[in-house]
Amino acid sequence: MDVLRIYVGGTWIAPSGDATMPITDPATEERIGTVALASPADVDHAVNAATEAFRSFGTWSKAERLALLRRIRALTAERIKDLAQAMSREMGAPITMAREMQAEAGVGHADGFIEALEAQEESWTLSNGDTLLREPIGPAGLITPWNWPINQIALKVLPALATGCPAILKPSEYTPLSAAIYAEILHEAGVPPGAFALINGTGPVVGDALARHPGLAMVSFTGSTRAGISVSKSAADSVKRVTLELGGKSPNLVFADCGPDLETRVRASVAECFLNSGQSCDAPTRLVVERACYDDVVEIARMAAEETRIGDPRAEGDHIGPLFDRLQWDRVQERIAQGIAEGARLVAGGPGRPEGINRGWYARPTIFADVRNDMTIAREEIFGPVLSILAACDEEDAIAIANDTLYGLAAYIQTGDPERARRVAARLRAGAVHVNGGGLGCGTPFGGYKASGNGREGGTMGLEDYQEVKSLHFG
Ligand code: NAD
Repeated sequence: MDVLRIYVGGTWIAPSGDATMPITDPATEERIGTVALASPADVDHAVNAATEAFRSFGTWSKAERLALLRRIRALTAERIKDLAQAMSREMGAPITMAREMQAEAGVGHADGFIEALEAQEESWTLSNGDTLLREPIGPAGLITPWNWPINQIALKVLPALATGCPAILKPSEYTPLSAAIYAEILHEAGVPPGAFALINGTGPVVGDALARHPGLAMVSFTGSTRAGISVSKSAADSVKRVTLELGGKSPNLVFADCGPDLETRVRASVAECFLNSGQSCDAPTRLVVERACYDDVVEIARMAAEETRIGDPRAEGDHIGPLFDRLQWDRVQERIAQGIAEGARLVAGGPGRPEGINRGWYARPTIFADVRNDMTIAREEIFGPVLSILAACDEEDAIAIANDTLYGLAAYIQTGDPERARRVAARLRAGAVHVNGGGLGCGTPFGGYKASGNGREGGTMGLEDYQEVKSLHFG
């Protein structure tokens, strides 16, 4: 399972240096392959090819770009199983979820962008008589993380190609297998040479070279807030456009008016927090609970955590898998220890591996109750199956606790009162508010307020991130 080549100018070539990194299976801790790492010289090569490709790709008609997206969509659908298998091996997503959610996102986002591009006007006239035109911004650098690999790649590569922008992708160095399959899909779909490049490499070397490169018109980054800040600083000197999808610490407000649905809503909330082993940027990790139902909610959450199945990513089913590597496992253990040390009440899970498991980066589904919002476990993103439960006196207090965070990616509300849902949603400072389990459809803009980033991915707004607007004035 080696990935020893990068894809530049329409062909697979060896990177210029000889640095490599192991690819590791998080369920077994075994090395399953090697990825060859590129250098800034390879980035220069890809930018030159992209600049050359932009001359003609940037003038492709909307019909040509739509036809390309449709071919990519069809080929992605054909390779769902391969993509799922790759992600399951490289980052530990259980195979059912890897197929039905992680890989399917590549098809869903293609549908979203096709619909958005079909509907988008390329030029229009204002009431003052001036004409506006949309144009591709130019070659773009795309940097993605390991936790939802194909979801993140599709959310960047597809709008770049849809708008006529050559795309240079640097996926996470930890998940090169799924990215290589996606490059094969793009090649087979007929993306012209130079209009797409896949450059494997580390963040500080290849990611930073993309952020700095004066030949790129923009850089789109998804990952940690720490690295997003670094990308913004590196990009500043070349005045390129920077879009950022960063971390989160999303609140989930539970009101006593859920009534008989309380158990269902709390169980679904725990499952959502633990999905992908808690490694989702918009996971609802702070359960902010109205006092009137607090004790019931803690008990339901405890049962839900204890009943959460953990298992081999290769097995079909709705269990959760391991964390993606040792580094992540260590970080999660450190946070669990911190929660205990800071005085939160451990009601399920805790430190170490789940009982009966002695290899693989598996963590115990963990619930802390009586968490205060100034504790580290309520403030820092944990990126593991760890839920913090906080008590709120009333609606006003719940909103204040929810908004008291650096982040603003998502928020969740569980309530039996639709009026309250609207009222509270309007006051939450987050890019998405999910009410009673409502999910985000493909084509809906996704992105954050505050330290969760800027820009929106998906659908029409996702296309606009890659476009300039030109005004035309006729005398
Ligand atoms: P990370 O920031 O370590 O890495 C993300 C990507 O950035 C990788 O490709 C990495 O190589 C690269 N990178 C790292 N340092 C860099 C630098 N200095 N310059 C340029 N590139 C650099 O994040 P991760 O551990 O891969 O992913 C987890 C993080 O991603 C979490 O914080 C999570 O919340 C966030 N995330 C956000 C979203 C979103 O849409 N908001 C989605 C998924 C993940």
